[in-house]
Amino acid sequence: MLKNKIHQLSDKYKSEIIALRRHLHANPELSFEEKNTVAFVEEKLRSFGITHIEPKAETGLVVIIEGKNPEKKVIALRGDMDALPIVEANDVPYKSTNPGVMHACGHDVHTSSLLGTARILNELKDEFEGTIKLFFQPGEEKIPGGASMMIRDGALENPTPTAVIGQHVMPFIPVGKVGFRKGMYMASADELYLKVIGKGGHGAMPETLVDPVLISAHILVALQQVVSRKADPKTPSVLSFGKVIAEGATNVIPNEVNIEGTFRTLNEAWRKKAHEQMLKIAKGIAEGMGGEVEFEIRKGYPFLKNEPELTQRAITAAEEYLGKENVLDIDIWMAAEDFSYYTQEIDGCFYRLGTRNEAKGIISSVHTPTFDIDEDALGISTGLMAYIALQELKQ
Ligand SMILES: [Zn+2]
Ligand SMILES: [Zn+2]
Repeated sequence: MLKNKIHQLSDKYKSEIIALRRHLHANPELSFEEKNTVAFVEEKLRSFGITHIEPKAETGLVVIIEGKNPEKKVIALRGDMDALPIVEANDVPYKSTNPGVMHACGHDVHTSSLLGTARILNELKDEFEGTIKLFFQPGEEKIPGGASMMIRDGALENPTPTAVIGQHVMPFIPVGKVGFRKGMYMASADELYLKVIGKGGHGAMPETLVDPVLISAHILVALQQVVSRKADPKTPSVLSFGKVIAEGATNVIPNEVNIEGTFRTLNEAWRKKAHEQMLKIAKGIAEGMGGEVEFEIRKGYPFLKNEPELTQRAITAAEEYLGKENVLDIDIWMAAEDFSYYTQEIDGCFYRLGTRNEAKGIISSVHTPTFDIDEDALGISTGLMAYIALQELKQ
């Protein structure tokens, strides 16, 4: 049975995949700088006997594994490869050796896991019909997103896959389990940059000045009505400001205040309307109070939708592979993912790999200096993705 063969191959290669993950973890590279990473990936693929490898998006790869009757159906599997500008605080043998750079989002796991999946599928290529495309993608963490560049460079052409499947570590799900959500899953994310301009001077003479600090305070409060009063309550929206810089003093009113924030939602029409509302409110308040505002909205990734039928088939496959009790139904998450670019073009399924282990103290969130995974997850991730892909090819 194919499922048992995949389990056996997954067990056989688990320790090697862990070693690959540790190498990647110790040698992280920032978004769009994944030169050594991609060279390492290519070398490993060739050592597995995989030779159909095309460079894409400068530091990315598209890899093709053909089964019998390769034209029958094409499925894409995606792994991202970039790390984050974080100083690793873990005291582990595979700690980052690149100062200030850390695989704190688990992309080392996704890359090593996809290598394992590639190896398994390549060994089974006489036993399935269709073609598997593998996307080793750069720059997930940084706008414009490596996924958009992979698409620009033709990753979804020659041949065109009918579906793309991706997995991502999830430190809130215990190791051994995976999580799926059908339909809307992750948010669009836009970066907000406001420069509120007034006229600075002595804090004792406000009547001669235009106070950008007070204007900013009003803008920050008023903008929240975009979420609380303008948004459809049934559509999740979030507006957060994490940076407010006013470089005055107890007795100095500054000339300007710089504010940065994020707006996230799950509806493209509302996203556009919310941008218009925010610009209007900020401008109205600044001008009404005698100042000005420069408001830049930098559009990030679109929302991520898991195609319901594809996702249901993947859930069924996961239940067969891992057991029903290990497949969870998960909620919407307001983080963003550039996997969404693929799902705007073709059917997609993005699921979560549990990596948490409280007994081992592995509980930190992604994007923190103490993030780590229970590596037993790598004994699941490689085979599971291979099994889901082969079940989908049979459709
Ligand atoms: Zn991340
Ligand atoms: Zn990530």
